[in-house]
Amino acid sequence: MPYAIGIDLGTSNSVVSVIKDGTAFVIPDEDGNRTHPSVVSFGHGQNAIVGNKALKQMAFNPQGTVYSSKRLIGRTISSEEVVKARHTVPYDIVAGEHDDPRIRVHDRVYSLQEIGAHILRYLKGLAENWLGEPVNHAVITVPAYFNDNQRQATRDAGQIAGLEVLRIVNEPTAAALAYGLGQAKNEFVAVYDLGGGTFDISILHIMKDVFEVVSTAGDTYLGGDDFDHVLMEFMLAQLPDEQQRQVRRSPSARLKLKRASEQAKIDLSTSEQTEIHIDALVRDERGFEQPFKSRLSRIQYNQIVFPLVKRTFEVCDEALTAARRVPGDVGALVLVGGMTRSPIIQEAVENYFGRVPELGVNPDEVVSVGAAIQADTLMSSMSGATVNTGTLLIDVTPQSLGVGTVGGFVERLIERNSAIPSGTQRVFTTSVDAQSEVKIEVYQGESRMAGDNEKLGEFVLQGLRPAPRGDVKITVYFDIDASGIVSVTAEEGETGTAASIRLEASTGLTAEEVQDLQSDLDFDNVGF
Ligand code: AMP
Repeated sequence: MPYAIGIDLGTSNSVVSVIKDGTAFVIPDEDGNRTHPSVVSFGHGQNAIVGNKALKQMAFNPQGTVYSSKRLIGRTISSEEVVKARHTVPYDIVAGEHDDPRIRVHDRVYSLQEIGAHILRYLKGLAENWLGEPVNHAVITVPAYFNDNQRQATRDAGQIAGLEVLRIVNEPTAAALAYGLGQAKNEFVAVYDLGGGTFDISILHIMKDVFEVVSTAGDTYLGGDDFDHVLMEFMLAQLPDEQQRQVRRSPSARLKLKRASEQAKIDLSTSEQTEIHIDALVRDERGFEQPFKSRLSRIQYNQIVFPLVKRTFEVCDEALTAARRVPGDVGALVLVGGMTRSPIIQEAVENYFGRVPELGVNPDEVVSVGAAIQADTLMSSMSGATVNTGTLLIDVTPQSLGVGTVGGFVERLIERNSAIPSGTQRVFTTSVDAQSEVKIEVYQGESRMAGDNEKLGEFVLQGLRPAPRGDVKITVYFDIDASGIVSVTAEEGETGTAASIRLEASTGLTAEEVQDLQSDLDFDNVGF
């Protein structure tokens, strides 16, 4: 049976794993790093550098080095996240033909799917080198709150990278799978995920093989970077005013201090005390370089970062309230993200939920390991092998689907987390006398108000029989196939007049463009 890899395509870092002879392996790069920065750097030639080497390019080639692209994939140019990024990132974000954000580097414009594909292609290559054979199948994870467009765009990125994407799996679900949760159990699981830039909490309900994401809450701007930042401010305050100004003005001094702060934070996960030493941070009044030295204890660190830790629990309250649960209902607790190696986080989470978290898998690798387990299970079931007894996840709709009704409301036809393929029908009536046509608007989302959901498309059913309002009955059929593509048909019973629409997530790229880009990327990576 060919190997299938599991990929955690993260905002700051990505991880790739594989199941070999029944054991999960996290695949390193040639320097032994097991996590790979989700960074793509373009030089003046066409070739892209990815991972740890690309991260080093950030200081030298800021306009040509793309990071945090996951914040943009599958969104529109006018979305809040993209508008925010345009103000903060040094690379150039431009509008694509289909209202999608694209990235311009050295006169070439890249879709976000291509950027994602470069990362995925790199990870595929690492796996191939490590296994010594080609790898063409993968499971890729995405945040539970990703909508159809973001999921489809991630799938397209995989296809451009030359991967058959067996399944897109929710990150918290993958984390739970890595611990073997859910096998024949019926329980609630909390997945607390504190990474470099974002915080997510998900409450899952696992019933047999169905992993329902009951609620998610998060803060897309709360992560390890903020912990480094408060630590940096703490150290900066130890310098005289003039030297503080020097550091604030100098990007390279700021970077040095940020790196030293991050290292101190990491050291304090295993030591009670740490020393910070930066060779040359500032200059004295005679222009001589001055070192920076300081000490920090874990107790001090805990006090400094406490407000940030507290913020994560406000988000946990929100997720539990939305799930109509209390911390005591949670039967298992899973930690995800490098920051959860920090003792203060582990202790605080344990206190909040009143239970010890699952242990044994590295928190920055757990999502990728879960994805690899699912990839292996899917591959085995496809090839008819019987040895694998893993949980075969049932695909579910990530968000509810419905049609717009009078007054700006939505009537839900398919609830979120319904297993797919799925179909349903509902009868509607006309709302005015002698109504000759009806517009069917299809929405995706959880709000009762149409305007708060995402509109997937609309079509008009014409030629209705003239009759008093309420007399004409229109049956609306919804169908979702196994790939998540939605078809909606409306039919007037008596005359048999019908109209329909097939909705595919609008990711900004057509199927042909995805195909073309796949060959482009092959060319880019000659000698990979
Ligand atoms: P991730 O996005 O999951 O790779 O998490 C990255 C974040 O975890 C960064 O902010 C790192 O500084 C932080 N991190 C990594 N290792 C540790 C550690 N041992 N202790 C505390 N934080 C860590």
